[in-house]
Amino acid sequence: MSRNLLQNRWQQLSERAVRQLQAEQLRSYLRTAVLPFSAYYRNLFQEHGLHAESFRTLEDLQRLPFTTKSDLQNTSAQPQRFKDFILVPDQRILARRPGTILRALFHGRERVKQDFEAEFRPIFATFTTGRSAEPTPFFFSQRDLARLATAGRRLVEVCAARPEDRMLNTLPFAPHLAFWLAHYAGTAGGVLTLSSGGGRVMGTEGNIRHLRKLNPDVLIGIPTFVYHLLHQAAEEGVHCQNLRRIVLGGEKVSDGLRQKLRDLAFELGARNVDVLAIYGFTEAKLAWPECPSPHDQPSSGYHLYPDLGVMEVIDPQTGEALPPGHPGELVFTPLGARGTVVLRYRTGDYIDGGLTYEPCPYCGRSLPRLLGNISRRSEVKQMDFDKIKGTLVDFNELEHVLDDAPHIGAWQVELRKINNDPLELDELILHVQKLNGTDEEQLSRELSERCVTHLEIHPNRILFHNADEIRRLQGVGTLLKEEKLVDHRPQAQFVEKRAISSRVSCNGTDSQPSAVLGNKLEKQL
Ligand SMILES: [Zn+2]
Repeated sequence: MSRNLLQNRWQQLSERAVRQLQAEQLRSYLRTAVLPFSAYYRNLFQEHGLHAESFRTLEDLQRLPFTTKSDLQNTSAQPQRFKDFILVPDQRILARRPGTILRALFHGRERVKQDFEAEFRPIFATFTTGRSAEPTPFFFSQRDLARLATAGRRLVEVCAARPEDRMLNTLPFAPHLAFWLAHYAGTAGGVLTLSSGGGRVMGTEGNIRHLRKLNPDVLIGIPTFVYHLLHQAAEEGVHCQNLRRIVLGGEKVSDGLRQKLRDLAFELGARNVDVLAIYGFTEAKLAWPECPSPHDQPSSGYHLYPDLGVMEVIDPQTGEALPPGHPGELVFTPLGARGTVVLRYRTGDYIDGGLTYEPCPYCGRSLPRLLGNISRRSEVKQMDFDKIKGTLVDFNELEHVLDDAPHIGAWQVELRKINNDPLELDELILHVQKLNGTDEEQLSRELSERCVTHLEIHPNRILFHNADEIRRLQGVGTLLKEEKLVDHRPQAQFVEKRAISSRVSCNGTDSQPSAVLGNKLEKQL
């Protein structure tokens, strides 16, 4: 009953109703699906003396220990750790349930068997995308794919796309959540969708051809690639006047980048484009969108689906759950998922505006929303980028500072050692696409000042490039995901071995030969 209410009225419930219904659904989910069939959580609950009934209210969720990325990682003792997180049904338990017996009486045993197959059998997987560890598979059953389709349909609804719209999906073909969510947004949302596979599959040119032919209403992709695509399309004089929505996944989206994309869309003849971001992660097997808001107003925040999972915001130091409106780390617990299931998953991502249950001021939906910017701490760690010459740098902040900077387009930050000597100081090189014929010396000075003001670092060099050069640097059309941050320090753990300096003609000016200054920047954490 409560499950139906939560499902049917997912966008119309008060905070109190959401939390009460979620607690009920959590108990039922733990009792019927997780505890009987998850090897990992059965043990964890036993170790901590917990039962499904231990969770009377949503606050009780705090009694459950977090699951982290490292819990999912294989070890030599457990080379197939990911299997412990897959729900494996026990036929004897299922057969004893009154519901199973009743269904067998009415529909026959064969039908009951088929239903359980659809509920539990893993038939599809996406993989985590981190560079620092081997990708971990996350399995979906038929039922999970139906959940993904629900999330896809809601994505279309919240982004206010229309059934008559045409969508160009430029997310890379890959076993990654973002691509498949976009795929299901099209099929379940009933929107004609063409998936180009992104730059690596058919190059920027091939994607521009589709922009011309399809004249899409909705364009979906990774921000860096979408920027290049629209920039080149504008250079080629493409018209794309139907475009109303640009939906971005896979990277953060700053206000400055939103404006730059709207400006480019304007050049293509699209007069009123909303740039909307999606936030999601493999471990949730879901993602959540913003709804359109007036361009001079703050973003509407990520609209969460209370029937599909519980999002908590916690204090990253103490692990304590925080009340609405407080910034902190995001922790997610699915409701109703099968296949791979992780509870209280610590994302490592930080939301600076916290969680709210207030009705959305733009679309009026009453559901939990995440407000403000999300910093994906995990990406920074993967790149081992924290320290430049002993200075801790918040690269999430750096991304915002550069995306918001006027007169520049795409950019890339490169870390090197002076003279390629592992014992030397780090240097930070900023590669920038200059726009609008601005004076290089002046722009260089402005960018340097921006970095000092916001980050307390000076780039060692700022090098200007044309659109083609920056595309090559970022790997547009060659890499699955374009690179905005590269680490070429000799001792770096995950160095990209390509010697990029050899293929770039630089006309840069040295802005500050004195390496990195400043002495702090440990923003959060
Ligand atoms: Zn809204």
